[in-house]
Amino acid sequence: MKAIVVGGGIGGLATAVSLRRVGWEVVVYERAAAFGEIGAGVGVMPNALRALEWMGLDDEIRQLGTPRVSGGVRAEDGRWLVHMPDVGQEKVIAMHRADLHGVLLRALPPEILFTDVEVTSADDLDADLVVAADGINSRLRAELLPGAPGPEYAGATAWRGVAPGPCDLPISQTLGPGAEAGVLPLGDGRVCWYVAAVAPAGADLDPVSLFGRWHDPLPELLASTPDVLRHDIHQLPLLPTFVGGRVALLGDAAHAMTPYLGQGACMALEDAVTLALCNGDLARYDALRRPRTRSVWKGSRMAGRFGIELRSPIALALRNFAFRVMPPSLAVRGMTQFSSWEVPAEVHSNGSNPVVN
Ligand SMILES: Cc1cc2nc3c(=O)[nH]c(=O)nc-3n(C[C@H](O)[C@H](O)[C@H](O)COP(=O)(O)OP(=O)(O)OC[C@H]3O[C@@H](n4cnc5c(N)ncnc54)[C@H](O)[C@@H]3O)c2cc1C
Repeated sequence: MKAIVVGGGIGGLATAVSLRRVGWEVVVYERAAAFGEIGAGVGVMPNALRALEWMGLDDEIRQLGTPRVSGGVRAEDGRWLVHMPDVGQEKVIAMHRADLHGVLLRALPPEILFTDVEVTSADDLDADLVVAADGINSRLRAELLPGAPGPEYAGATAWRGVAPGPCDLPISQTLGPGAEAGVLPLGDGRVCWYVAAVAPAGADLDPVSLFGRWHDPLPELLASTPDVLRHDIHQLPLLPTFVGGRVALLGDAAHAMTPYLGQGACMALEDAVTLALCNGDLARYDALRRPRTRSVWKGSRMAGRFGIELRSPIALALRNFAFRVMPPSLAVRGMTQFSSWEVPAEVHSNGSNPVVN
């Protein structure tokens, strides 16, 4: 069985690794001149680590990343609103996105990877399975579901970067009026950070002045980052299906979500393993992945509503009070509710284990 994967981001490469693991012949077409990943940090959540474990890549991920317990949620002056205890919960692996992408890339033979190939129609592709992993603005999705709405602006803009910084910072999210920030220390003297603010798309804003009075080390991290990335945040309205004929949508092409739960790339890793385990049964893939990603998509939307989007002083005070009185066990449960996914055990109608070692 032959698959063509369109798009060489985290989702596309993870799919190629996973399909090869169950015996498929795979090629990857990427429109850029080189395989690579821009961006700053990524928290490999326990669910994503289980997907990487199934791919046989978890050891390398653990070596390149740093396992962390989330520290919790802070107010913009640095006060903890929720301080998460380390109660033995699974850790998040903090790493640079380029390192995660690199691990996937090295797991694939170079002769199946093609750059400078822009795919505009699945009809041009000779394969039993076409995987559309071509990102939020997917051309193949537009072809498969011409009536479905495209990405919509989620009302906020984000800046991200990597700066030198202390190794012993906890992972934290900071919530302020109409804005939020996060720090993800990589454990090697670099700290990944992001800040986001409610604003019209494309607004001319300076993050250094917007976040200049927030708690340490945010102002210094922003000021000392040479290359700051800016993204207006978009989401894809929920789709009626992820599949059609021999085409499967995967990753952001299927379910691009707001980044407030840090689960977008993690979902693409789950998709990849599930698609491989479905071994060509696309209806099963759709049945397994649409409900799961819908719930995380909605959770992320909700996290935005009660996080970055709150601006009225009364609403902020009520939210912060609720955080402060929340029992630590509830906080841990809130954090882990989306990361408890397990690799589907039996997805084959014949019950066989398809993994080829
Ligand atoms: C501000 C921000 C912060 C985020 N933070 C996190 C986080 O902390 N944790 C997390 O898990 N996720 C996070 N995400 C989400 C995450 O970045 C995405 O969910 C993930 O990168 C999607 O991967 P993908 O492979 O599906 O798509 P992409 O990374 O978009 O890859 C698509 C690939 O397809 C290629 N391509 C496109 N069109 C074609 C074509 N026609 N032919 C051939 N190739 C094509 C592109 O060049 C690209 O390489 C964040 C997103 C944003 C915007």
